[in-house]
Amino acid sequence: MDTALLVRRLLNMYDLFDFLFLGMRLWGRAKVFRRRMLCLWLLLLGFALVTLALSDLFKRERDNTYQKPGPPRRPLQRVPSPPDLDVIVDSRDDALEFVVDLSPLNSLQEDQLLFVRSTQGTKNPPQRKATYKVLLPVTNKHTTPAPPTHGEMGKAVRLHLKGADRDKELSALQKYGFNEVVSEKISLHRRLPEMRHLQCLREKYSESLPSASVVICFHDEAWSTLLRTVHSVLDTAPKQHLREVLLVDDLSQHGHLKSVLSEYVAHLDGVRLIRSTKRLGVGGCRSLGAARAAGEVLVFIDSHCECQKGWLEPLLERVAQDRTRVVSPLMDVIDWQTFQYNATQWPVKGVFNWRLDFYWESEPQLQDKDPSSAVNPVRSPALGGGALAIDRHFFQSVGAYDPGMLLWGAEQIELSIRVWSCGGSMEVVPCSRVAHLDHHHLPYRFPDEDLLQRNKIRIADTWMDDYRKIFYRRDTLAHFIRQSESPNITERLHIKSSLGCRNFQWYLTTVYPQLYIPQDMPGLSGELYNVGTGSCADYPRGQGLHGGSMKIAPCSGTGSQHCDLNSEGEVRWGPMGSLCLDTKGEHVILSPCPNPQPTTSRLQWKFIKLSGQLVHQQSQLCLEAVKDGGLPHSSSVKPKEVSTRTSVGGLFLRPCTHQPRQQWHFEQLVAPKGA
Ligand code: UDP
Ligand code: MN
Repeated sequence: MDTALLVRRLLNMYDLFDFLFLGMRLWGRAKVFRRRMLCLWLLLLGFALVTLALSDLFKRERDNTYQKPGPPRRPLQRVPSPPDLDVIVDSRDDALEFVVDLSPLNSLQEDQLLFVRSTQGTKNPPQRKATYKVLLPVTNKHTTPAPPTHGEMGKAVRLHLKGADRDKELSALQKYGFNEVVSEKISLHRRLPEMRHLQCLREKYSESLPSASVVICFHDEAWSTLLRTVHSVLDTAPKQHLREVLLVDDLSQHGHLKSVLSEYVAHLDGVRLIRSTKRLGVGGCRSLGAARAAGEVLVFIDSHCECQKGWLEPLLERVAQDRTRVVSPLMDVIDWQTFQYNATQWPVKGVFNWRLDFYWESEPQLQDKDPSSAVNPVRSPALGGGALAIDRHFFQSVGAYDPGMLLWGAEQIELSIRVWSCGGSMEVVPCSRVAHLDHHHLPYRFPDEDLLQRNKIRIADTWMDDYRKIFYRRDTLAHFIRQSESPNITERLHIKSSLGCRNFQWYLTTVYPQLYIPQDMPGLSGELYNVGTGSCADYPRGQGLHGGSMKIAPCSGTGSQHCDLNSEGEVRWGPMGSLCLDTKGEHVILSPCPNPQPTTSRLQWKFIKLSGQLVHQQSQLCLEAVKDGGLPHSSSVKPKEVSTRTSVGGLFLRPCTHQPRQQWHFEQLVAPKGA
């Protein structure tokens, strides 16, 4: 109660008593009594005033202690009940729901909508408890999560960048893994040149195709590439088939992806924005999008894509014909540096190797003379995640994406093996083209540097049965991790058995017969170690996919130098096992193995265990290692010339001797028993 009001009321009561006293005086006996009562009332009034003043003081102090540490109140802040997982900005009804989540990440910091705890100082990954071997770092984009430093990148791309923009471009490149400065200069509505086959333009599609939800997950995507993706979908997908574009923010930190994006999206017709308050990773983010999608068919596309005119209809048609069919457009490529659009040659299939790395394999030599092959989809052992259409119910019933998979990597291989093994199929549809921006390097920093291996371990242990040993021999880091920890795959095995999924042998023979199955015989497979030089046979990057000379290099121990001498006498090289040790004159090179045709004598070798010699069957010469700058040993080179020339190191054919440079053994890094 207000102090002034109380005083007023007390005074009113005093007036009342005054009136009574007057009556009493009239009766002649109130004088003394009235003076006493006045003292009493004055006392009461004083007491009330003191009490009120004190309580006001306490109240103010209590309020101060609440306000001091907290941020000033914001009108939109409210604690929902019950708590939800995501923040939704819906452009159609402008619905806003905000959630307080104590996740330790800085989502929506700019909007100040969420409780934020600093992540500074937690850059270093937690110390590993496991005691497996620490192997050499690898430099492949698909195996190195951390982006290169400014200096490294300067070296790598110096030749391409020019002028005053160079520094700006380099820092944009480091941040995003592509040249964002160039991207910003390109219209958000640019049209791609028509690259579809003429036959595709004549194709007719059903009027009553199922509706599509295009789900675009993003984590710290650049503004220009993200918005170009969204507009490209809106500009190319027919309205009657496009139920919605669902943007799913996987806890981005970049400022432009916060309120500015919310506002932008609010003005787009048919676009919804969902924000996750937990970092979900590629698969988790897509599963969240799928759970919130309303369309019959889910179309996942990366946040840096551009769609060709007419891309959606052929995909929807194939899914409508068979709801267990998962389809991908033919993926064109946007250059990470120039943003030039490059059309991919048909036919193309999605494949993976024994290290569980995914590739698109373009096989123009397989171009059929049959004109219908230009428009006919091809069955594909796997599909990439860049753009993928799948029936929403089938996606859920086949187990969505594996929630146990960490942030990034190999989720497309897991989905592929699962879809095929559990009753579905996959194909690439050539009349649908979507261009994907291939990064120069991965722009994310992951808290777990071995996350890709951990994801692959889940695939190997869930789906590959005994064939998983072939994987572990070619990825020894995964092998050592697996030795010290087991993945929790109980749920996935449950799905596998409840859906009655087939085994990996069925997958290999029926779906992916092109994949060579290594024999990995004990003593005849592993790193090819040379006694004389103490190094291993190697085929360095930058030599082309095949045809280059074999080299020697320090033994990596990672499984990347693994090879396999099989019962045909071929020395199979590489994680696909599709390249063979071949010869060109005295040089030892790599060339594609004849598959499935029988091998030729030029590709046959015999290993003599006792002497360690590897004898080329056609020439009966021996494999010899020469170090860089070492002396060539060709019998055709005269001694005088030898003294003036040094050779480039590598593997050569030489007349057989017993010198150590001709002594080899296969170092099997992972015991035949395997993981
Ligand atoms: N992405 C995500 N969360 C992550 C990592 C990636 O939502 O933790 C998004 C990313 O923005 C992209 C898609 O998932 O739209 C696929 O990722 P990315 O393009 O890096 O994979 P890649 O094409 O290199 O295989
Ligand atoms: Mn991508």
